[in-house]
Amino acid sequence: MTPATTPGDALHEAAAASAQTIAQVTEKVEAVVRLAGGVAHDFNNLLTVIAGNAEGILERGAEGEFRAEIAEIADAARRAAVLTHQLLAFSRQLVLHPRATDLDRVLDLVWDDLARQAGPSVRLVRHTRTSGGIVVDAAQLASAIRQVVCNAIEAMPDGGDVHVAVEDADLDDTATERLHPMPPGAYVLLEVRDTGTGMDDETLRRAMEPFFTTKGQKHGTGMGLPTVYGIVKQSGGFMWLDSSPGGGTTVRLYFPRITEPALLSRSRTPARVHAGDGQGSILLVEDEDLVRQLTRRTLVRAGYHVVEAPNAHAALVEVRERGLTPTLLLTDVVMPGMDGRELATLLERELPGLSVILMSGFVDPRVPLAGREGSARVFLEKPFTLDRLRSLVREAMRAPQVN
Ligand code: ADP
Ligand code: MG
Repeated sequence: MTPATTPGDALHEAAAASAQTIAQVTEKVEAVVRLAGGVAHDFNNLLTVIAGNAEGILERGAEGEFRAEIAEIADAARRAAVLTHQLLAFSRQLVLHPRATDLDRVLDLVWDDLARQAGPSVRLVRHTRTSGGIVVDAAQLASAIRQVVCNAIEAMPDGGDVHVAVEDADLDDTATERLHPMPPGAYVLLEVRDTGTGMDDETLRRAMEPFFTTKGQKHGTGMGLPTVYGIVKQSGGFMWLDSSPGGGTTVRLYFPRITEPALLSRSRTPARVHAGDGQGSILLVEDEDLVRQLTRRTLVRAGYHVVEAPNAHAALVEVRERGLTPTLLLTDVVMPGMDGRELATLLERELPGLSVILMSGFVDPRVPLAGREGSARVFLEKPFTLDRLRSLVREAMRAPQVN
């Protein structure tokens, strides 16, 4: 095992040695990714309806004996949502909020917590050499790091060391030769190396499969590494595992390094014009009837004027033929016919100052989520709570109007 304190080539050679196994792993994993993604999408819509209606009843003050039962429904739906969230993470369809940051700062978010979790017998050591900028969703990446470090801690029941290293890695053709499909380039590397039990070939091959665990049903979910894999891939990164029985495990996550100073120093805090709650009109576009009804009911109760459309075509008719000028477009992303993004692009052109909220738990991984500079688009992740819906809508209705 290459010590994490040895910078440069040796590190990447070690990574290359395991590239063959990993390439096979990912091929198999990709097949499961497609399956999981499909199921999670439908599930999300159902959960939005179940949890949303249960909450709606609770908010309006359900009667005594029913109250407990309805609260249980809402609670179960929320727990099911956690599972769907993991499946979406794995299939790279999380709604990410990528920002320019650096790995060291991301690590700060979880470090104290992890140190506590490590306990007295595990030594958690942090090495930072240089840490260039990356564009990631810091909260999601932090939770991925937590999974990897927790695995390391769990692999050392009798204690040991976990070295967490952050360093810039400039990889040329030779360095990436055996790291297919990772192209040469400038990366930031996060390496987590433990001195634990390690994995045999079979475990290593299956480690990134959803629900694969060697810890038993009670202790493992088998969704740790699949979630990490999904988040890393969705952030444009690469993940490599290196392990042998008794020889410890090394997990390496590579993220494309950004060098543009403009990106690094960017902070977008647009001035807000304040309008009262419940003012302005909303064009709501959603093909799932139940989700649309729930959303409309919630917003109407909050005092907004809501015009609904079951698809993008109907929404365009409202604007172009009936002269509707909504303050906010609240649209589902995945719909038959024109999708929510295309609709948003068309309407943004026709209605300057339009705010846009895209609702989805399901985002096409090929489309960058960062949004255009100055864009007022916001994502509402499904399944959403009614509170979240109301607060995002309230925010969006306050966005600067350029009339
Ligand atoms: P879980 O931790 O719930 O079992 P994960 O997806 O995080 O699920 O990991 C899957 C399996 O991969 C683990 O059960 C374990 O066998 C193996 N594994 C992951 N990380 C390590 C590690 N650092 N050392 C040894 N085995 C590991
Ligand atoms: Mg785990």
